[in-house]
Amino acid sequence: MDSFNAILSKRLEDLRQRNLFRRLRSIDSPQQTHIQLHGRSLLNFSSNDYLGLANAPELKAAAAQGIAQNGVGSGASRLVSGSLAPHHQLEATLADFKGTEAALVFSTGYATALGTIPALVARGDIIVIDKLVHASIVDAARLSGAQLRVFAHNDLDDLRSILEWTARERLSAPDKQVLIVTESIFSMDGDAAPLDLIVDLKEKYRAWLMVDEAHATGLFGPNRRGLAEQFGVTPQIEIQMGTLGKAIGASGGFIAGSQVLVEYLVNRARSFVFSTGPAPAVSAAARAAIDLIRGQQGAERLAKLRARIAQFSHALQIPTPFPDSPIFPLIIGPEQEALEFADELLATGFFVPAIRYPTVARGKARLRFTFSATHTQEEVATLAAEVLKFRAKKNSAS
Ligand SMILES: *Cc1c(COP(=O)(O)O)cnc(C)c1O
Repeated sequence: MDSFNAILSKRLEDLRQRNLFRRLRSIDSPQQTHIQLHGRSLLNFSSNDYLGLANAPELKAAAAQGIAQNGVGSGASRLVSGSLAPHHQLEATLADFKGTEAALVFSTGYATALGTIPALVARGDIIVIDKLVHASIVDAARLSGAQLRVFAHNDLDDLRSILEWTARERLSAPDKQVLIVTESIFSMDGDAAPLDLIVDLKEKYRAWLMVDEAHATGLFGPNRRGLAEQFGVTPQIEIQMGTLGKAIGASGGFIAGSQVLVEYLVNRARSFVFSTGPAPAVSAAARAAIDLIRGQQGAERLAKLRARIAQFSHALQIPTPFPDSPIFPLIIGPEQEALEFADELLATGFFVPAIRYPTVARGKARLRFTFSATHTQEEVATLAAEVLKFRAKKNSAS
């Protein structure tokens, strides 16, 4: 036991040396724009609760009612006795919202990727991913056993040359499947995949396409379905993935697609088959959130979010990575410097995370500002002023 802890302590020391050590901070308030941390009130610019729904009264009421009607736990895997009415209602709502035949809910977005990808491709197949996709997709790709190829971030020439190679590989193995996976809005860079052009390529090379809309569901497209809707390519995407934990304000993950896809995943996605169904009250809350997002409130909240993003971008004189992207990275470079900047913001009352390796590449550390419909104009103005002050200080020091 002593040597076990000693070995782990040494590994942790190594992380500290490289400014990569992380620790949890206990927030003593709900997820909202003002959070309590160690007795201090901070303005929160770190959450993915883009529409400010995580603590909205409508969701709380739906969850409370869900508990009253269905209790707390699901009791079993959905395939045993844990498939409760709120799960099915949420899936019907999701399919209708996304405009697909069917949808399937998982306990988290991470579990969604981890179950779905290895169900679809295996040894003998090929999976092609963007260099910057989320860890859940990388882990799922490795777990699948399929041959993994990575294309440079949003680089269509690189993707095309990999797909040309897959076409040659398939000459002698016609059953070999090729799955391309990308995010739509990228989680740490806030930029967007050129979905229309990726769709052209995947059609040309007869590959399957999976798009993770974790940071776009609820935020893009005329019906706020996601970036695929904005690009008008929804029917060409075999597998649409999303999380219920970001703009939707609850927790869980989902796949939207054909009826056959969903039936297949119910049978083959191991993170679905061998895991207890999501808490029914959380599914009820997610369903209420989607109803809200689709209605007038969704339009109003999104308009507010977009105004705050535009305000911050204008104040800093730095364009957003993609129009209306809710993620605004300020690339700093050295891990140490990003930590200092985050600490300084913390001291002045702003909670903004320094994002470091392994979440992003080494030496590409950054502050990741995220915005919410519930931020006020004044709050964003004070943040922008603080960031400009820090930058001016840095510039005069260097
Ligand atoms: C957050 C995130 C996930 C994981 O979703 P959870 O519901 O938090 O497990 C998957 N993909 C991307 C791109 C994400 O940002």
